[in-house]
Amino acid sequence: MSPRPPLIETRALGKVYSPGTPAEVVALRGVDLRVEHGEFLAIMGASGSGKSTMMNLIGCLDTPSSGTYLCDGVDVASLDAAGRARLRLEKIGFVFQGFNLLSRQTALENVMMPLVYAGVPVAEREPRAREALAQVGLSDRAGHKPSELSGGQQQRVAIARALINQPPLLLADEPTGALDSRTSEEIMALFERLQAGGRTIIIITHEQPVADHADRIVVMHDGELHEQGWQAPGKGK
Ligand code: ADP
Ligand code: MG
Repeated sequence: MSPRPPLIETRALGKVYSPGTPAEVVALRGVDLRVEHGEFLAIMGASGSGKSTMMNLIGCLDTPSSGTYLCDGVDVASLDAAGRARLRLEKIGFVFQGFNLLSRQTALENVMMPLVYAGVPVAEREPRAREALAQVGLSDRAGHKPSELSGGQQQRVAIARALINQPPLLLADEPTGALDSRTSEEIMALFERLQAGGRTIIIITHEQPVADHADRIVVMHDGELHEQGWQAPGKGK
């Protein structure tokens, strides 16, 4: 029996923007990262250290300049654009600092949106979206537009949308960056519940109290990734 591969494995991953031009930026330098199924990882580091670049590569939103990336055992370089889009749809839910909700649509409609792209039959969309809203504790806000919700509620809608296709991985870039500290704690508690339900979580943050909710912290510095170590059971809370 072959052991289950890690969900994420990068080997000597590199990224250079605008190579060979005066604007060249080396954003990632030989990054080796393994994330097992069910882990909760925080990626920290100063602004410009390469965190979002790393997230874009893990999320198959961009391609590396060098090195290898295996997502759930699949070498992403072997996929064409359609294959990468499929992998994204099946494996990864994205959460962003600015929530990225459609302002004219209700919470329910926002959460249903990825099902349209996934080709899910119309009749299935609404019950699944209601279930996802229930998972984040927002059943009673399904008909509200983003402007009628608090920041924390909007981020929970965005998390429900990220969960709608049941991806094994949630990838969140500064998910609490626009929230006050109390609301941030609520969102992190939600991520912990989702981890307990079997999901793998990777968050990018520069806030230590946020990172303390993870099992493991890695720190980026000038395009290099360094292990900061494992946290004790019960974590930093
Ligand atoms: P972080 O998320 O840690 O702030 P980024 O990954 O966004 O860092 O950026 C890493 C480096 O790459 C920075 O020097 C940034 O200016 C540069 N960079 C990011 N995206 C691009 C891009 N699309 N084109 C050129 N340079 C970029
Ligand atoms: Mg960033």
